Amino acid sequence: MSAVSLIERQQVKWNKLTSLLPKLTEALPRLNNLLKLCANSSYLKTGESIHAHLIVKDLLSRPEDAWQINSLINFYAKRGEAHRARKLFDSMPERNVVSWCTLMKGYQDSGSDSEVLKLFKSMLLSGEPQPNEFVATVVIKSCSSSMRIKEGKQCHGCFLKHGLTSHDYVRNTLLYMYSSCSGTREAIRLLLDDLPYCDLLAFNSALSGYLEHGGALGEALEVLRKMATEEDLVWDEVTYMSSLKLCSSFRDLNMARQIHSRMVRLGFHCGDVNVSGALINMYGKCGKPLYAQRVYDGTHSRNIVLNTSLMDAYFQSKSYEEALNLFAKMENREEAPPNEFTFAVLLNSVAELCLLKHGGLLHGLVVKSGFRSHVMVGNALVNMYAKSGSIQDAWKAFSGMNFRDIITWNVMICGFSHHGLGKEALEVFEEMMVAGEVPNRITFVGVLHACSHMGFVEQGRYYFHHLMKRFNVEPNLQHYTCVVGLLSKAGLFEEVESFMREAPVQWDVVAWSSLLNACYVRRNYSLGKKVAEYAIEMYPNNSGIYILLSNIHAKSKEWDGVARVRSLMKERRVKKEPGVSWICIRNQTHTFLSEDNQHSEIVLIYAKVKEVLSKIRPLGYSPDVAGGYHDVDAEQSESNLCYHSEKLAVAYGLMKTPENSPLYVTKNVRICDDCHSAIKLISRLSNRLIVVRDSNRFHHFKDGQCSCCDYW
Ligand SMILES: [Zn+2]
Ligand SMILES: [Zn+2]
Repeated sequence: MSAVSLIERQQVKWNKLTSLLPKLTEALPRLNNLLKLCANSSYLKTGESIHAHLIVKDLLSRPEDAWQINSLINFYAKRGEAHRARKLFDSMPERNVVSWCTLMKGYQDSGSDSEVLKLFKSMLLSGEPQPNEFVATVVIKSCSSSMRIKEGKQCHGCFLKHGLTSHDYVRNTLLYMYSSCSGTREAIRLLLDDLPYCDLLAFNSALSGYLEHGGALGEALEVLRKMATEEDLVWDEVTYMSSLKLCSSFRDLNMARQIHSRMVRLGFHCGDVNVSGALINMYGKCGKPLYAQRVYDGTHSRNIVLNTSLMDAYFQSKSYEEALNLFAKMENREEAPPNEFTFAVLLNSVAELCLLKHGGLLHGLVVKSGFRSHVMVGNALVNMYAKSGSIQDAWKAFSGMNFRDIITWNVMICGFSHHGLGKEALEVFEEMMVAGEVPNRITFVGVLHACSHMGFVEQGRYYFHHLMKRFNVEPNLQHYTCVVGLLSKAGLFEEVESFMREAPVQWDVVAWSSLLNACYVRRNYSLGKKVAEYAIEMYPNNSGIYILLSNIHAKSKEWDGVARVRSLMKERRVKKEPGVSWICIRNQTHTFLSEDNQHSEIVLIYAKVKEVLSKIRPLGYSPDVAGGYHDVDAEQSESNLCYHSEKLAVAYGLMKTPENSPLYVTKNVRICDDCHSAIKLISRLSNRLIVVRDSNRFHHFKDGQCSCCDYW
């Protein structure tokens, strides 16, 4: 039956019922039933006319009228009109326990937990009826959803006195309360030990309480272990779903496989879509997309949630292309159109692959499918444009969003920051403050990076020392590393030294590399050598440090130093990551290795590089042999520098795209000094915007300048 005809039939039924009203005068039980039906449907008018009818017939003022008043209280409470319910309650000549409980439930449903507790207090003070198990359940639930553990404990004591805690419902609600409020380990253990018999519901309540609130995963695991040892306990869907969630949080593949095999062994419906979805999510989180695929293949009925879960499983394990391919295969299924989660996974995959063109096509699909105003999709769009290189489009998408959450602001701030547009990042941060959004850890990483790009040392210090404290954001290693970057970029090496000595963190390779890089760019070679020697001892397999040290030696023309570093690398078998660049032209990705000769048009590309380099020489280009060790293992010579992967990609872009159109190139490692100065001049020569994303950041080359101001 269609939804419309269902509603029509209901309408007829209700019209009939209301027309019967006058004849029902004496049939109060039926009126009560009718009110209950009204409360659970959208028939406000019918309920109100019953109310009017009861007033006219004077059936609301006698002590024995409590039942129909209770029904009316229930009706108004369920309709979200707590004040009208309260008015009726207050005017009652005599109340019974149901009156109290109904009003409490009404307050609870409308989210007024404090009103529930107030009402319970006056119930105890009034001494009218004694609380029963239903009152106890409502009250404890309110304590737990408003995280009032102190009041909850008091109520627990009170219900213990009234002998109500042996009721299953009451006990399970108590368990849920204790497990959902942190710091109540002892209480739950007592409850679990006190269980008269092995009660699945009680275990499930404790498990889901721990999982859903406070993130007390250790305790949840303890409960699950106890459940596994109880031989008579038959797990149900709730148990399995919770345990799969727990595995996902721990990313514990071993546990995941144990639970999965338990399901198979005990014949728990593995073909069920919901259960399969949870399994797929879990294997995705554990980084096993192929296991997820196997579960997917074994599920007969599919829906978009399941499809999206599988795509997300591939995304989680960085198989972005696989995630996109999966969508391409699914796309034509009309019965499973993509939802907001699908678009988010797709856009995030595109972002990681830097496929700006594909991202634009997806954007069109988002608009067509009506998901544009969805915050999650909007955030993914901003992220996609920012990560794929088009910060202007990211800004456009950001500006067009009607609703923003903390992720929206963070993506935009970090996006600008990543592109070296520190001023813009700080402006968005200001706007965020004005909008009243509360910044978090990620916001401050973006903001500190922005300060570092701009060289705003004072401002950065203020954010780090004062603003973070004001917003209760505890600085972590990432923030401390940002400050190292900020100070060392400004050349304040003495301050960096004392800062690093005093900071209460264990410095990692990122922090040392950041300092080392600053020494290299700021030409503080003596400190750079010291830092590099130390970092090489700490991280003997990190090729980046060796290369920076070698570059420092080369810049100071210490060729024996260069040779020493090189032989050390050979001795320790440290392999540097080969430089790879790629560019997407007409939906096809072209990949280039340094001195690549795999590409079908390589001869033409080499010729183009030669032609362009000779044209920029008059503009001031001279090959930077000293810094060129980044990418070449062999002889350091001009001809090697010519054929760095990023130069090949840029040359190919120049050959294959219309004049003046922007080029977007991605590189897996840091762009070298020589390519950087060459591409700056190429941007002027060709009058194009050239965006290069390297392992650290984005470089926007335009009119002979780069957005990084030659510091990266
Ligand atoms: Zn290069
Ligand atoms: Zn740059």
